[in-house]
Amino acid sequence: MSLVQVGRIIAPYITSNDAEPDLNCSVVMLPGNRGVGYAQELPGDRDGHGVLWQKVVERPGKGKPRFGKVHPARQRRAMAELLCQVCAGPADRTADGVLWLFQDHREDWKRWPEGMAAVEPPVCVGCVAISLRRCPALQRSAVAVRVRSFEIVGVRGTLYRPGLFAPTAVLGTEIMYCDPMVHWMVAVNLVRELRECSFVPFDELLNS
Ligand SMILES: [Zn+2]
Repeated sequence: MSLVQVGRIIAPYITSNDAEPDLNCSVVMLPGNRGVGYAQELPGDRDGHGVLWQKVVERPGKGKPRFGKVHPARQRRAMAELLCQVCAGPADRTADGVLWLFQDHREDWKRWPEGMAAVEPPVCVGCVAISLRRCPALQRSAVAVRVRSFEIVGVRGTLYRPGLFAPTAVLGTEIMYCDPMVHWMVAVNLVRELRECSFVPFDELLNS
């Protein structure tokens, strides 16, 4: 469900709200040091790669938005299905690729954002203008990027290590699905690797 209500944006689709509290589920070690699991685990707690995901309450459109806090299930759905992170409609796509909006980090590395591990889902053209107006980070500096190759490569979340009685949370990080350590993660975001990126001028986008 989109959070665009009666023609106005309450909050982006992927933004969490205060009717969606964090759930504290006990994380346990699997027998044979195979990674982490939940004490009361359900089949839906893992993704197709067998990686454990943060359990969440999902009540879109309820409560007050918690801007800056991304809802794990909605981020995962938008990223997996290439939905607009603001309105949850299909992200914009042309022959040059799918549309992403980012803060401008071209100083980070020479061909940024080529090869970036992205956790921000893409956007549709209709949500570009409102994102530029309403998102404080994008107000500072923004770029629109078309991406031709956007493979799902891994997850972001909390990495655990074996502890004496229970696994211990070590750090928040991103881990690729090909890394065996991914089984020690509790995931909160799906990560795509962006390749074949090209910049799009905003006037071209907004006047099209
Ligand atoms: Zn949109």
